[in-house]
Amino acid sequence: MVLDLTLLYRGPLLSCNYGCDYCPFAKRSQTAAELAIDQQALQRLVNWIQERPVSDHLSIFFTPWGEALIHPWYQRAIAQLSHCPQIVKVAIQTNLSCRLEWVETCNKAKLGLWITYHPSEVLRHQFLQQCLDLHQRHVRFSVGIVGLKAHQAEAQALRQALPDPIYVWVNAYKRQANYYTPADIADFTAIDPLFGINNQVYPSFGRPCRTGQSVLSVDGDGNLRRCHFIPEHLGNLYQSGFEQTLQPRPCTNATCRCHIGYVHMPELGLDQVYGAGLLERIPEPPTRDIPTLFG
Ligand code: SF4
Ligand code: SF4
Repeated sequence: MVLDLTLLYRGPLLSCNYGCDYCPFAKRSQTAAELAIDQQALQRLVNWIQERPVSDHLSIFFTPWGEALIHPWYQRAIAQLSHCPQIVKVAIQTNLSCRLEWVETCNKAKLGLWITYHPSEVLRHQFLQQCLDLHQRHVRFSVGIVGLKAHQAEAQALRQALPDPIYVWVNAYKRQANYYTPADIADFTAIDPLFGINNQVYPSFGRPCRTGQSVLSVDGDGNLRRCHFIPEHLGNLYQSGFEQTLQPRPCTNATCRCHIGYVHMPELGLDQVYGAGLLERIPEPPTRDIPTLFG
């Protein structure tokens, strides 16, 4: 059976070099033994992909709990995967604090980065330098920021400093109801024309979602779930026959709040907004050609 599948990978990594106060993984560290388990789990995934038929169409999106790219085994794995014929796209969420030479070992045509700027953790000019370096290396990426009101000036500065074709997103802060005033929404939408898409909680119960059919969440042991937000176990990637679980199934959660989830709801049509950049959140066409949506 030819697999046409997106895997959302979240392995045993639970640590980060940054200390953002809005994050449970801030400054968490792991022992060498724990990190070795993470490395082994990642290698198992890479081996599995390399052994799949070359006719497969696989996309991998790394959504770690923590920062992965500071570890050389993630850099090597992404480079290896980007050269696999089975791979259509390999993407990862990162704070971009790593050195960047490793990207030269990748097939950049298949690489996508979702980069988050954390103003409390890095100087703006250093972060921008990293982004511009990546841009000069012809790597495709989106870059954004958590939409705290206190971040508004930083978000504006980011948008102004980066070349137009680089999409700058703002992740709506949803932990507090009615957090934004209409003026806040207008300001963030001026920075990110797609802010209105993210500044929503989508009703999803009983509605179609491609997760469980052409998208699966997988952990370091190969355990499969339809998405990161629904715990129901759907088998194991490393056991034969898991493909039989792939079928259309309505969402069982009341709502869907995150880009990495709701982009797979067909009724939202977001595959047409993001095209090949759906995972790493790069809209096609560039945002300057897209009218403000969901405003
Ligand atoms: S960089 Fe990301 S994972 Fe690390 S502390 Fe900040 S929000 Fe958490
Ligand atoms: S709509 Fe969201 S929560 Fe529901 S199945 Fe899809 S990704 Fe998961």
